[in-house]
Amino acid sequence: MILTCTPVFQERLWGGRKLETTFEYDLPQGNIGECWGISAHPNGMSVVTSGQFAGLTLAELWEEKRELFGAYTLDSFPLLVKLLDAADDLSVQVHPNDEEAMRLEGEPYGKTECWYVVEAEPGAELILGHTAETKEQLAEAIAHGEWDTLLRRQPVRAGDFIFVPSGTIHAIGEGIVILETQQSSDTTYRVYDFDRTDDEGNTRELHLDQAIEVTTVPDSPKIVHPKTKDVTGGTVQTLIETDEFNVYRMDVTDGFVLRPLDRFRLISVLNGEGSLDGVPLEKGDHLVVTVSDKPRVVAGSMELIVSDCNLK
Ligand code: ZN
Repeated sequence: MILTCTPVFQERLWGGRKLETTFEYDLPQGNIGECWGISAHPNGMSVVTSGQFAGLTLAELWEEKRELFGAYTLDSFPLLVKLLDAADDLSVQVHPNDEEAMRLEGEPYGKTECWYVVEAEPGAELILGHTAETKEQLAEAIAHGEWDTLLRRQPVRAGDFIFVPSGTIHAIGEGIVILETQQSSDTTYRVYDFDRTDDEGNTRELHLDQAIEVTTVPDSPKIVHPKTKDVTGGTVQTLIETDEFNVYRMDVTDGFVLRPLDRFRLISVLNGEGSLDGVPLEKGDHLVVTVSDKPRVVAGSMELIVSDCNLK
């Protein structure tokens, strides 16, 4: 079964309007930073728009029709897929792992995330990792605001893929549009906000104690260069396979077959149009493909980001 999902748009201080031009979404007013494409998180819930379950939320389906998803015993739907448009720099932040999220926040999941860069303006940069060798050095550098030497910067361009495990200090920079696949968590510890203030002169809250506690030390992550494999009707690029999730980029045309799988998959259409098992799809669509013992056939021509979950 193919469950197409309604996108949920989120206004953000750093957001822009690129999701309107790049994905032809009908955006609400304002600076739209995020489109939550597939989510069962209470802060932005997907509603199914296709098939017999149209009108139900993804959380309701996870609760009541678990067999559609596979042999999972997790209480809540584990993944979240979103698009982000950074018209301005996001704050520098870090997320807890599962154990820390439970211990510090009473939340079920930490946040390991990864980014596929959809667009990047010339000169666009991320912040990824830091230069401290010990927690003491990290705390010291943060206390003294030594951001230029502490934070590692990483230039990026369209097509890059970045893995951001929990504990990695990171920020998406101005001029970047990404598709993010992440654990279903909204827990963020803000480390630095470039000393920005709002119209009333207020700064945003920082969470330095928690951030220092959960940050991986030392940490100098590198951009990965995933391998691409030719298959019938297209190519499959393995972006990452981790304890939490697997993520692939697929260029598919007529004749491509999505092999049977004993668990659900999440799919976002980055480009093109076509269909999957006869369900029409176009750029900007997000869908859940349920457990299947039959191959699912593609028509048309599309670029897809496809993920599945390894947590049980
Ligand atoms: Zn993050």
